[in-house]
Amino acid sequence: MIVTVLGLGYVGLTTAAGLAELGHYVVGVDIDNDKIEMLNRGDVPIWEPELAPLIAKNRQAQRLAFTTDVQKAASQSDVILVAVGTPAGPDGKPDLTQLERAVSDLTSCLPSDALLIIKSTVPVGTTDQIATRLRRDVVHNPEFLRQGSAVHDFFHPDRIVIGCGSEWAAERIRRLYQGITAPMIVSDRRSAEMIKYTANAFLAMKISYINMIADLCESLDANVEDVARGIGADHRIGHAFLQAGAGYGGSCFPKDTHALLYLGAQTGCSLPLVESADRINQLRPQRLVTKAEHALGTLRGKHISLLGLTYKPQTDDVRSAPSIAVSRLLLEQGANVHAYDPRARRFPIEQVEICPDVETAVHDADAVMILTEWDEFRHLDWRRLLPILRCPVIIDGRNLYRLEEMRKLGVAYPLRYLSVGRPEVN
Ligand code: NAD
Repeated sequence: MIVTVLGLGYVGLTTAAGLAELGHYVVGVDIDNDKIEMLNRGDVPIWEPELAPLIAKNRQAQRLAFTTDVQKAASQSDVILVAVGTPAGPDGKPDLTQLERAVSDLTSCLPSDALLIIKSTVPVGTTDQIATRLRRDVVHNPEFLRQGSAVHDFFHPDRIVIGCGSEWAAERIRRLYQGITAPMIVSDRRSAEMIKYTANAFLAMKISYINMIADLCESLDANVEDVARGIGADHRIGHAFLQAGAGYGGSCFPKDTHALLYLGAQTGCSLPLVESADRINQLRPQRLVTKAEHALGTLRGKHISLLGLTYKPQTDDVRSAPSIAVSRLLLEQGANVHAYDPRARRFPIEQVEICPDVETAVHDADAVMILTEWDEFRHLDWRRLLPILRCPVIIDGRNLYRLEEMRKLGVAYPLRYLSVGRPEVN
């Protein structure tokens, strides 16, 4: 089939490359001219494992091309997928400006027999409205890929959700994803939109639940990792998303929980579980900064080194990452903040000094704070690093090290190790 993908961010670019690999002829469209120029030069504007070679392979096979010309691309397509951003507005209400522009750009050039698919996460009812406006069936096909393993997730999804109004549309989408083995869940459009928000809010709740329990573990001298292992072994609970830490971030969980709360408020339906998950998460950065205060007294004039700025490992994305809130709080308290991350793109706070490597970031530090569980941080040689710190304080916001390991290290080197939901090592 000939496919157009509108919006070449983490979702759109991965989807375009994945569909080309499945054998379709795909044109990726974005309004960002620089992005299209980069892609046409053979560069990839985002970093996502396995994505660059997949794009290169399919460009070479002439199954994948990029343009800013939506009219030309869409007018020749059998399927058009919209994967533009739907960021949260200030009150949590999703900002649909990008989607509205994409749909109006498409209005004049949609072939009558083409299938329009909305992949962006949108408030319940949005796809119905687009279908009414365009007077045709429009599918909502939410995306569940995870940044950091987006390519893998494209080819191995847990399920494909199809929210549509006709068997014709469902059939075409089955053809689109032919080659991928996954259960197809067909529903009406509104339920498909609801599935996406409900899934993300559930995962956010799981993270906040274990973080809440972590705080109680600290007060009661228990170890949250043992607790998580103990409850996760129950298959009704499962081990996933039970890692206590700095809290969730990224472009989806915070925005999608806020969108769900907004939808609840609009309809007069309170969502106290989601509200609590959000509140707990918003307090995580302060909790880590309080640990630093507890260890150092005042933070004024102190040099704090952040290891990890991205909201999770294996991505370059810092959108809504805990590192942003932590940096703000540290700067407010008068600390000097230095940071190192192996992949982060432009960090939004200028006062944070970005360092080229771990050694430079931690040199003369009063405390080191780990905020992202990058593999390279798991294997740091603390015997070499501790002597170059001014104060041997490690605040591990991701519980990267075993307590036993840190206790052993502490025998040879003076050390204070504060992690999340586990006893302090000193
Ligand atoms: P993104 O912000 O990385 O990319 C959006 C892209 O759309 C940008 O390149 C932008 O220039 C382009 N764009 C904006 N308006 C356009 C238009 N009118 N025509 C063509 N291109 C346009 O977004 P993302 O992270 O890929 O997310 C896209 C959607 O998928 C969002 O609704 C998001 O909630 C959802 N989603 C994201 C993830 C994720 O992990 N990032 C996972 C599942 C679902």
